[in-house]
Order: sequence, then structure tokens, then C-alpha cells
Amino acid sequence: MRKIRKRSGFAALLVSALLLAPAMLAAQSSVEPGFNLFSVEQEIEIGRESAREVESQLPLLNDRSVEAYVDAVGQRLAVEAPHGDYPYQFEVLNVADVNAFALPGGFMYLNRGLVETVRNESELAGVLAHEIAHVVEGHSAEQIGRVRTANTGLLLASVLLGGLPDPAKPAIQVGGAAAFSAYSRDAEREADRVAVDLLVRAGIDPRGLVGFLEGMLEMRSRRPSAVEQWFSTHPTMDSRVDEVRATVGRIPSSRLEGLQRDSREFRAIKRRV
Ligand code: ZN
Repeated sequence: MRKIRKRSGFAALLVSALLLAPAMLAAQSSVEPGFNLFSVEQEIEIGRESAREVESQLPLLNDRSVEAYVDAVGQRLAVEAPHGDYPYQFEVLNVADVNAFALPGGFMYLNRGLVETVRNESELAGVLAHEIAHVVEGHSAEQIGRVRTANTGLLLASVLLGGLPDPAKPAIQVGGAAAFSAYSRDAEREADRVAVDLLVRAGIDPRGLVGFLEGMLEMRSRRPSAVEQWFSTHPTMDSRVDEVRATVGRIPSSRLEGLQRDSREFRAIKRRV
């Protein structure tokens, strides 16, 4: 008797989870784009858990000098970011695809393939600045919100049945997947604009971002599979490159003069990868 009641309670929970899911989906879908649902602390917690998830699935390069160099360039840009509350860290994955991605809270990943592809320090810094901008502008957290919305039915059922106490938990579960979902064109535009500003503040030539994007477009025609992940997450077309070029063109040439394009450290790293 007891057993049956228990089972029917379980069924009722499951049914209510399934019934509630569409309503919750509708409610959450109406959230304005650009609205970040998480506090900075939650973003960092989600990012940290997602980073663990990423590193359990993808190999780190494990080359201290390459990692230290990439982290140093990243930190140089991150200190110029408007919201300094994120514990930025930059890791290099031993993956051949030319890609980079940012998790909420400032956990950033670059693939070895990207380090092999960039031609000078300002191109590397260009892509790092772009990824930092996605974090600063809350795009990475928005992605999690979107992916979470799409999975609300499932997650709600797991909350009800498994009793997850922490409201950030469901977001953590989809954090890794979110890093591989697409940013909007508006988010790309905004991230490029913020990136150019970060680069100039850090004393690095923002034309490196233009060079990086041109290189990606060129590579798409030569080796499309190598850059597939980048293009599926960061919409990149000729018009985008033109816009970045125009943004840079509005900076007085006296400010661009003498900005850093390359370094001996960069060339040493290139010989290692
Ligand atoms: Zn992007």
C-alpha cells in the first residue's frame, strides 16, 4: 500500500514537471535578449563548474611556457576590462581546431590550433580581447540562460525528482554545452567594439583583430573543417570585418602609432606549438 502511494507520488511529480515545463518555457522565453539572469557570484560558480566539465572532456596542452604566455597576454587585456570582478584565467587546449571560447565568470579557452594559426601577437590578443568582451558584456551568461531555457523540461524534472538544492545547478549542467552554442550577430558586433577598446587601452594594435578575422575567412575557403567550430559560434562574415576596420579607422592615427604588433615571446611560443 505504502509502496503504491509512493509510486503515485513520484508519477504525480513527474506529470507536474512535464505539465509545468511548457509554461516555464513560455515564461523564460519572453526574457529580453541581453538580460543576464545571474549575479556575478553565480556566473563565477557556473563558469568554474563548466570549466571542470570542459577539462574532463578536452585535454589541456600542458606546456607551461605556452600557457604562461597566453595567460600573460590575456591578463594584460583583462585588467583593462570595465568589470574587474571576474577571476580571469586563460587555458590552452591540445585541440587542433582553430577555436577559442569563453565561459561565464572569465574562464577562457584557446585551442592549440588557434595559437598555430595567428601570425603575430596582436592577432592573438585580438581574439582574446573579443572573448573577454563576451564575458564583460554578459553574452556568455546569456548563452547559458538560452540553453537552459531549451532544457527546462528536463531540468525541472531532475530538480523535482533529484532535489537539487542550488538554483545555479541546472545552469552548471549545461554550461559546457552553452560554450558551443552560437552568439548573435549583435553580440559579435558588441564584442568586437569592446575588444578594440580593450586592445588600445592595453597598448596593443587593434588591427590585429582585423587580421585575425581576415585569416579566419581565408582559412574557411581553404580548410573549412578546421574553423567550423569558430564560425558556428561566432558569426563572421565580410561585413563584420569591414565594421571592425571602420571602428579602428575612427581611432586617431596618433593613438595607433607605436601600439604593439608583435613580440619576441610570441615568436618563441610559435616555435613550440
Ligand atoms: Zn564572438
